Amino acid sequence: CGVFGIYAPEQDVAKLTYFGLYALQHRGQESAGIATFEGSRVYQHKDMGLVSQVFNETILEQLPGNLAVGHTRYSTTGSSRKVNAQPAVVETRLGLLALAHNGNLVNTVQLRSELIKDKFNLVTTTDSEMIAYAIAQEVNAGADWITGAISALKRCQGAFSLTIATPAGIMGVRDPNGIRPLVIGTLDSEPVRYVLASETCGLDIIGAEYLRDVGPGELVWITETGLESFQWHQQSERKLCIFEMIYFARPDSLMHNETLYSYRMRLGRKMAAEAPVEADLVFGVPDSGIPAAIGFSQTSGIAYGEGLIKNRYVGRTFIQPTQAMRESGIKMKLNPLKDVLFGKRVVIIDDSIVRGTTSRKLVQSLRDAGVAEVHMRISSPPVTHPCFYGIDTDTQDQLIAATKSVAEIAKQLQVDSLAYLSWEGMLETTREDTNSFCSACFTGNYPVAIPEQVKRSKLI
Ligand code: 5GP
Ligand code: SF4
Ligand code: MG
Repeated sequence: CGVFGIYAPEQDVAKLTYFGLYALQHRGQESAGIATFEGSRVYQHKDMGLVSQVFNETILEQLPGNLAVGHTRYSTTGSSRKVNAQPAVVETRLGLLALAHNGNLVNTVQLRSELIKDKFNLVTTTDSEMIAYAIAQEVNAGADWITGAISALKRCQGAFSLTIATPAGIMGVRDPNGIRPLVIGTLDSEPVRYVLASETCGLDIIGAEYLRDVGPGELVWITETGLESFQWHQQSERKLCIFEMIYFARPDSLMHNETLYSYRMRLGRKMAAEAPVEADLVFGVPDSGIPAAIGFSQTSGIAYGEGLIKNRYVGRTFIQPTQAMRESGIKMKLNPLKDVLFGKRVVIIDDSIVRGTTSRKLVQSLRDAGVAEVHMRISSPPVTHPCFYGIDTDTQDQLIAATKSVAEIAKQLQVDSLAYLSWEGMLETTREDTNSFCSACFTGNYPVAIPEQVKRSKLI
């Protein structure tokens, strides 16, 4: 999901949130929503669909206020329905609260039973709404916004980057491991106004300047008087999702002071060094495989070109919920350049293989276009484990590398050779401390313990 928040009384906060969400559209295409506050009054609009389908000028004009939060949804828990669209708005002793969540809680069973005791009416089925109710529960018991939020956050386990709006100001929160990203930007100077977004591309689009990340286990409170920081969790240990780096976040977003485009290009260089091959042409699966393909070409000396053209007006196929839809989606999306490919030995680069469905169809279409050889290189290791922290990598039995060796996968995909980047290579290429990432979908080594019952729902 994508989350956004802004405190800027003299600006059109609904419109700025709209554009922020527009830039974060790649993080979720199922539903979109904005809630604005004007004093204690809340205005909100949310619906199924893309940001550009859910909002128009007229709707945005009906969302006045000084501060706002917004959300683009990609469902990992709860079904794909309008009631699950965010921000979640709940009532508290101190007024309404609107919350936008990216990530996934792993202790929802326990949290739900704590909330039901207080007779909270859990309308929707999402973990995100539970966080909002948990804060309401603490506030209703007498806490102020900050102490209430902190007590509630301590009851949550899993991945959560949150933007929360209240009549008094907005909060930005990251879980103790900072699994999902969240950045702070500034807008204007006198006085400084603050913006929160999942990624820096959500700041760029409104001309906000990147200030810093919200830290793991940090809560920032943005009000009329500026920004205050609270370290709400003392044993925070950074475990940023490596999948954000290799695939999920936009290539023009900054992480560790460089664009992900640069990181992904280095992954390609690393792959060329780890698994060289003789070929005539290298290309990436658009768009996610392109930066790594450029890097692969630079190091290998193999000519870079385009081999597949993407229809950029269809969404990411993996967002669609059923396998049947996924399979029919692929031909609509990528078309081979037949005359470019004919008779060539090609290297096709992608960021990951999850189910193998996309890859198998792509290889088939390259064969149909008359390639001489197909060598596939993947800029991450085999995905062997499901994600419980908010990326929809499906149940373990759906993951092709969970049960098959690289040789077996190569055979199934009908490629002449297949190589994945090593786990060490992927992490070293970040130039960061290799322990500061979650890479559980490649290892099964989950940084936040997952209750047995939840584990069983996804593991073979
Ligand atoms: P596959 O060959 O596994 O069907 O699809 C691989 C493609 O799916 C890659 O191009 C990759 O960009 C994309 N992908 C990356 N992350 C995810 C994810 O979390 N879920 C799914 N289903 N696909 C993803
Ligand atoms: Fe990211 Fe994989 Fe960890 Fe999920 S399991 S948070 S996708 S690295
Ligand atoms: Mg892709």
